[in-house]
Amino acid sequence: MPARAEKLLIAHFGELWLRGRNRRFYIKALKGNITRQLRCESFTLEDDYDRLVITPGKGSTTGSIAAKISKVFGISAYETAYTAKPTLRSITATAMRLIKEEKLSGVKINSHRSYKGFRFNSIDIIRSVAKAAQEAGADPRLKEFKSQIYISVKKDVAFVFSDRKRGAGGLPVGTSGRCVVLLSGGIDSPVAAWYAMKRGLEPIYVHVHGFPSNGEAESSKIRDIIGILSQYCPNPTTYYVPSHVFQMSAIKSGRYELIMMKGFMLKLAESVARKQGAGAIVTGESLGQVASQTLSNITSEESGIAIPVLRPLIGLDKAEITQIAKSIGTYGESIKPYRDVCSINAKNPATRSDLNTYKRIAKEIKLGSVAARSLKMGSIVQTDGHSGTCSPK
Ligand code: ATP
Ligand code: MG
Repeated sequence: MPARAEKLLIAHFGELWLRGRNRRFYIKALKGNITRQLRCESFTLEDDYDRLVITPGKGSTTGSIAAKISKVFGISAYETAYTAKPTLRSITATAMRLIKEEKLSGVKINSHRSYKGFRFNSIDIIRSVAKAAQEAGADPRLKEFKSQIYISVKKDVAFVFSDRKRGAGGLPVGTSGRCVVLLSGGIDSPVAAWYAMKRGLEPIYVHVHGFPSNGEAESSKIRDIIGILSQYCPNPTTYYVPSHVFQMSAIKSGRYELIMMKGFMLKLAESVARKQGAGAIVTGESLGQVASQTLSNITSEESGIAIPVLRPLIGLDKAEITQIAKSIGTYGESIKPYRDVCSINAKNPATRSDLNTYKRIAKEIKLGSVAARSLKMGSIVQTDGHSGTCSPK
């Protein structure tokens, strides 16, 4: 066993999915995702019953790794732990170091042994640490405590830690399959992408743009939004598709133009899903948030689409979506100015579309072949992580 690092991270999965027969499949996927998300760090990853131990290597720290681990779906909680030798003396000294460093007082001491072959038991550990804490004025308590210390004793090492952080939760990305996310420059669809990833879907992005060339869209703020989202699932594939073929064809759609545009986007997404083996389309729509997001419009737009259209934000208010956009980091980019093709088109759109009228216009303007032609004119970009390649340490 190599010498233990002084500090390491312990990650917990703790979701119901672990109880099922698929446990190994999920844990394998989670470890793969951790490795991908930490590809710019040096570390080792070990199984430890119902948790994973991540030890920083040269040039990495628990802080830099924790920032990335907090964005790995499937981890319910994690903590930074000190390592100690599995002796009463070393454990007590390490616990006291933690108490002093974090200025803990009114502290409850908890101990658990997964290896029970030593001469001391958990009560002995708690007594020893409590005595030292008392002497140092840290006021150890059993009840009405203000902070806690946890000691976890294994055969070759003991872990000592105090504060457990909430992880991203959810399921490991990829374990539910793939989806195509219709991504705009707005606030909502990046949040929808995040929710899809949270439930184990790996996203492929499709963005429809109004620029004269794909290159301009590729270097727009859409790239930056995808960069932020790729902290949760690295190296995504994005399709940038021009809107001009649609716009020329749909010129006579009148108040149906915006609905036809949404139908066009869904058709594009469906084709991409077929190419990429994705089982669903994800959008950032919420019911009634804007005048065009009505049940009848949704019914028209998704008619003829053979795979499910998931709308993770359907029940959320704009304020709730905004709050999540801030916490996941996309909000700042989303509010930067951008001429989205939907806002260019949205002049007094129909709010109660009629399905037969929609189908008639779709046939007249050959929506299916317009989508197929547009997709051929699009570009496909693979994003390398968050901000390009790993910087040298
Ligand atoms: P968002 O904040 O995501 O832009 P929104 O509230 O502006 O959403 P709409 O403009 O009606 O609502 O767009 C609804 C959904 O359609 C978006 O959430 C997104 O999934 C998709 N969408 C809109 N514009 C584009 C685009 N240019 N490219 C790809 N998908 C788009
Ligand atoms: Mg929008």
